[in-house]
Amino acid sequence: MAQQPQAGGGNSRAGTKKELPEHFKAYKHVWVAVEMEHGAVHSVSFELLGEGRKLADKRGVELAAVVMGESRAELDAAAAQCFEYSADLVYLAQDPALAHYRNETACQVLTHLVNTYKPEILLLGATNLGRDLAGSVATTLATGLTADCTELEIDEEGSLAATRPTFGGSLLCTIFTLNFRPQMATVRPRVMPMPARQEGRSGRIIEYSPAINEADIITKVLDFIADRDSDKASLPYADIVVAGGLGLRSAENFQLVKNLAEVLGAEYGGSRPLVQKGWITADRQIGQTGKTIRPKLYIAAGISGAIQHRVGVEGADLILAINTDPKAPIFEFAHLGIVADAVTLLPALTEAFANRLRINRLAS
Ligand SMILES: Cc1cc2nc3c(=O)[nH]c(=O)nc-3n(C[C@H](O)[C@H](O)[C@H](O)COP(=O)(O)OP(=O)(O)OC[C@H]3O[C@@H](n4cnc5c(N)ncnc54)[C@H](O)[C@@H]3O)c2cc1C
Repeated sequence: MAQQPQAGGGNSRAGTKKELPEHFKAYKHVWVAVEMEHGAVHSVSFELLGEGRKLADKRGVELAAVVMGESRAELDAAAAQCFEYSADLVYLAQDPALAHYRNETACQVLTHLVNTYKPEILLLGATNLGRDLAGSVATTLATGLTADCTELEIDEEGSLAATRPTFGGSLLCTIFTLNFRPQMATVRPRVMPMPARQEGRSGRIIEYSPAINEADIITKVLDFIADRDSDKASLPYADIVVAGGLGLRSAENFQLVKNLAEVLGAEYGGSRPLVQKGWITADRQIGQTGKTIRPKLYIAAGISGAIQHRVGVEGADLILAINTDPKAPIFEFAHLGIVADAVTLLPALTEAFANRLRINRLAS
């Protein structure tokens, strides 16, 4: 509704751009809605602050973070971290009803702050929570939202060019929210690099006490029960990831990936067909519709390197691909390639690393 999709880099949008309605011209500054996970800031919020800083600097405006919660100590700690990750200003919303995330309360607070202070751009993490909140906020504010962006740019008039994959990841499209404010976008964890932390940096705090009446809120949090089988956070933030693909041929052979990961102290994952076959759980899928990873080392065994897989791994510092086909697309972006049968090579690598670690342990 509010979005005006444009394929390509956005130069072609001039024909569709109208004069921004007068009441939207007051919208300034770049905001990040900070995600709190059991009292601590989710790393995706720092990644967004890094990206938000670049947009704010190009536009010559301030970068603000919105933190919400119940505990003053947790909120102060979160605000201090946001300053160190380059926020100029923190909107700090404190209320007992904000103790746990609920869509209704978070949406109420964020839309109130947006309507009061009028940011030009509002960024959220494309996590489960961020997706839930972003959709409600965009709908309530009747503005455009571009989900799962992989690139954010801004022009001199303040139009956000939000780029994301489309048509099953085979194309990138750039979407503008030309005639509505704020311009909203979500970005998945690890898509943007973690910015440098500037210790001791500080900024301004604007406090907001929403005085939420608990009786007006239809959802109640009774308890939080962690999903013991889930390890959602560890794959995107792992230093080493070992993954397998259909080239491994069977679920039994996938154990070879797990063995190598264990020796290296790494996380393991796989391509999408492995989830469809039930060899791995969905939270271990890597790629466009799975996890985006940025490890120091990514080992991909028996994975062809389709574009939908590539977009989730190309932020890795070092990609080592093992594939029997020298023409496999993965060799086009891997830093190191081994043309070999992964089923034979993986046990050999596991043994070699295990021996090396044993020798290192003895020497120390
Ligand atoms: C909308 C959409 C979203 C998608 N999202 C994702 C996603 O998030 N993540 C994802 O991974 N895919 C995704 N896909 C699927 C993607 O297009 C590919 O089909 C998929 O990545 C292929 O998985 P693969 O590399 O394991 O299998 P294949 O493409 O079948 O590749 C197997 C590879 O193994 C090699 N090989 C064979 N035997 C051996 C051996 N013994 N040793 C070593 N190598 C061997 C082959 O040469 C081949 O290159 C998506 C597709 C669509 C349409």
